[in-house]
This record gives sequence, C-alpha cells and structure tokens, in this order.
Amino acid sequence: MNEKPKILLVDDREKNILVLEEMLGDLNIEYVRAYSGTEAIAKAADIDFALVLMDVNMPEMDGFEAVEHIRKDPRNTLLPIIYITAFYHEDYYRVKGIKSGAVDFITKPIIPDILVGKVTVFINLYKQRKALEEEILWREQIEKDLKKAKDLAEDAMRAKQKFLSTMSHEIRTPLNAIINTVNLLHDEDPREEQKESLDILRFSTDNLLKIVNDILDYSKIDAGKIEFEKVEFEMRKLLEGVRKSFSYDINRKALTMEIHVDDQIPAVIFGDSIRLTQILINLVGNAVKFTAEGGIILSASQEKKLEDIITVRFDITDTGIGIPDDKVDMIFDSFTQATSSTTRKYGGTGLGLAITQKLVELQGGTISVQSKVCEGSTFSFSLPFQVSIKTQVKDDTLEKATFHSLKGMKILVVEDNLVNQKIVSKYLSKWEVEQDLAENGKVALQKVMQNRYDLVLMDLHMPEMSGYEATLKIRSLPEQYFQNLPIIALTASVFLEDREKIQKFGMNGFITKPFNPSELFWSISPYQQKR
Ligand code: ADP
Repeated sequence: MNEKPKILLVDDREKNILVLEEMLGDLNIEYVRAYSGTEAIAKAADIDFALVLMDVNMPEMDGFEAVEHIRKDPRNTLLPIIYITAFYHEDYYRVKGIKSGAVDFITKPIIPDILVGKVTVFINLYKQRKALEEEILWREQIEKDLKKAKDLAEDAMRAKQKFLSTMSHEIRTPLNAIINTVNLLHDEDPREEQKESLDILRFSTDNLLKIVNDILDYSKIDAGKIEFEKVEFEMRKLLEGVRKSFSYDINRKALTMEIHVDDQIPAVIFGDSIRLTQILINLVGNAVKFTAEGGIILSASQEKKLEDIITVRFDITDTGIGIPDDKVDMIFDSFTQATSSTTRKYGGTGLGLAITQKLVELQGGTISVQSKVCEGSTFSFSLPFQVSIKTQVKDDTLEKATFHSLKGMKILVVEDNLVNQKIVSKYLSKWEVEQDLAENGKVALQKVMQNRYDLVLMDLHMPEMSGYEATLKIRSLPEQYFQNLPIIALTASVFLEDREKIQKFGMNGFITKPFNPSELFWSISPYQQKR
C-alpha cells in the first residue's frame, strides 16, 4: 500500500482540530479537516477514510445527524467513527451515538495516550483490511489468468484431437487400400521373388498402421478420453486368439509359444476384452519382435479373489535380447526405446509400452518387468475382472475357416473411394456375390428403394449424403423390409463412441478399415439365407 491512511477530523472550531492533530503527532497518516457536518458528508462521499473523529456539538447539523447521512452511502456502512464529546456519560447521548453507528466515544478533556491508542488500533485495522483487499484482487486476477490458460489448453487439446483423428482417418484410408491390395496380390499366386517383395510391403504397411493407431490411442489416453467396456468373454479363447494372430511370425522365426492358464480362472469373466487383447498384443508382439531363438510363454493365473472379483496375473516371458538394467525404468515412458538402434533394427515408436501401462493402470491394475540382457524378459501385469457363472459365451469371434461361396446373395456396396470399391468388389466376386454400387448415401437410398438386397455395406464418410444419414432415411421408409435390411458400416474409426453411434443410427454392425477378408466374410455370410 503506497498511500498514507487518511483520517477525517470534524469540528466546527479550528482550534480543536489543531489540538487533535497535535496530540496524534506523526502516525504516518494524512489528516483531512471538515468544519461542519455538511462538509464532513461531502468529504466522506469522496475520499476513502480509515477513521472519522467526529465532534458531536456543532451548529446547523450535529455529529449524530452527519453520521446518519454518511452511513447512507453503502461504501461507508462500515467506516469506523469515533465521537468526541463532553457528554458521553449521559444516557441520551450514549444511545443516540450507538444508534447512529459510532464505534467508540472519546470524552473531553481528551487524554492523549487514550486518543493515540484508539486511533492506532483503527489505523492498523484499516491497513490490514487494505492488504486483504489487495490479496483478494491479486487472487482473483490469478484465478482469471488460470481459467484463461485452462481454456486455452483445452482448446489446444481439442484442436489436437480433431487434427489427429482427421489425419489418421486420411492416412488410414489410402493405407487400407495398400494393405488390401497386398492381400489380394498374395492370394493371386505370386512368383517366389514377388512374394518376398510383398512380404516387405506387408511388414512396412502393418508397421505404419500400428504407428498411426498408437499415436491416435496415445492422444486419446492423454486427453483422458478413453472408456472401458464390460463384456462377457472366455479368457482361454482370447489368449488363443492372441497366439493365432502371431502364428505367422512365430512360424517364420521358428519360435515356440506356450499358453498356460490356471484352472482357478473361471471359463467366462466380465471385462474389457478388446483392451485386454490390445495389451497382450503389445506385450506378446514385443516378445516376438525381440526374440530370435527359443520361445514365448504366456501365462494367466489367479492372484486373488474377493467375492466375485478375481485378480488375474499375466506373465509374458521371452528368451530374447533382454533390457539393460539402466534402461528398465524408462521403457514405459512414451517415445522411449532401450537403445538408439532399436528403431532401425526392429521398427516401432516407443509408444507401445506407454499405452500398455496406461491401459493397465486405468483399469486398476499394475505392470512391471524383470529382464536380463541376452537371457530374456518377463513382463507381468495384474487386472481385476468380475466372475460370470456362464461356462460359454455365444461365439461371435472371427474363427478362421475356409470361405465358402455366397452365391445367391445380393449386396449393395456404398463407398465413395474408388480403391476401396475395387477391393470390396474383388472379394465379393470371389465369393460369387451379386453386387451393386453406390458412390454416396443419396444414390444408395434410390437403389435401396428400387432393388431388393440381402445386405448393404455402408461407408460412413461420403460426400452428398453420409452413411449415417442414408441409414436413418432407409430406416424411416414405410415397408418392414427397410427396417430389417441388414446395414453394416465400413469405418476407419476405432473409437468406442463411434461404435455406439453406429448402433444408435440403426446399423447392424461394423467392419473396421483396413478390413481383413475374413472379417468381411464373417460379417456378411450370416445374412446369406435371410432373403
Ligand atoms: P516399440 O514400439 O519400440 O516396441 P515399446 O514401448 O513397446 O515401443 O517398447 C519400448 C522399448 O522397450 C523397445 O523399443 C525395446 O527397446 C524395449 N522392449 C520392450 N519389450 C521388450 C522385450 N520383450 N525384450 C526386449 N526389449 C523390449
């Protein structure tokens, strides 16, 4: 506080004011004089005072009346006022004085020590109040600044999310085309040397797709936007599925892979099977990637059980290159790899374990690693699940099986991307499906009204009319056929909320792009007989 506190001295006699100033001496305050009640009211309305010393007996307007007026100003309702009077001991003055809002009385003849003592108390109070006011103002300013910074950060986060999801969609669409074309070429009896090139192409595109998905996943987790599902699933089947997805690499590298499941683990449990698969695929994927000889053991055992909640511990052990002691603590950090040559030799971004750790911890679990260079590593994590009394779950997983002909089926493919059209069309022709094509939702709507289809494969993002809108329009057409017509979405999105949206718009299911042929086949084949 830079300014000196101000005191208003009110008395009709200048002599009395001079005596007061003399008695108070230098208290490092500024004195303002008023020689009448009216002048006091005017000054109090204008200036912020620490205290008023008010003479009671004045001609025209006495001190009580002046104070009543001063109090009417809302800023002065708490202004400390001390009356200076010779008549304090008379009841009339005491009651009137207190009623008009005095905080104290000083009786004449004034004793200098008492005057200085009382004034000092009020000056100190005033200083404290000012300091508090400043502090409050300062805090309010900080709060405002913080809110502004928070809003800015949230805006930036939203922009980042939007950018990443748009970009990943844009990247995944052509990538989808490349991966599917490679798959098609593989099926077309390539020569040996062509096979090798196709394998390289497949490795690179798979890696690229994983990177795009990892970055997207990581940004989702970072933004706290990840949600977990609770579905019933069979643990043993899930682990078997993980093994199957690596069978190609395991055979190619002549490794072994064993699965051990503790008998205590119930056949069916509740949890997020998709995220568990993602965690296991990351860890088993690393184990396969960093192991040249020997094998991998994936084991699941019951760690503890409390009522119907079971904690399962998973261990993924490999006989690979291991991780140096001084690197073990940092491999869970994002964008970190054990050695600088890792990317060159093995690929990857160093995001996998950061995502894996978050996925485990967000579900209330823990993850750790034990490793020895040149001997191998064991990654272990524990996750809680709810026990189910069922012994089996209706199997809608994509069991590998030989594709059979879907002759007799008529499908409408709604897709604006030419390469995607071609790829879907090639597979459908292979399975002898009769097909029709629409390049956007609008054309699809017309075709659906003019023809009878067994199923519609519907891309979601298209010009003119999106897949969502087209589905809504089809579902609102009068005949029962339009309500029953199976519509399966083709989507590049891996997000839960998009899957929920697909369901909400009345679609029967979805296939994620880049789709694998068996997913496409097993999504459409159940509708073959339903004409
Ligand atoms: P990346 O995409 O590089 O695999 P991760 O986050 O999955 O990223 O792994 C980070 C690093 O941890 C790897 O680059 C590797 O150096 C080390 N690492 C992970 N798993 C293993 C393993 N099973 N054996 C040896 N090193 C591993």
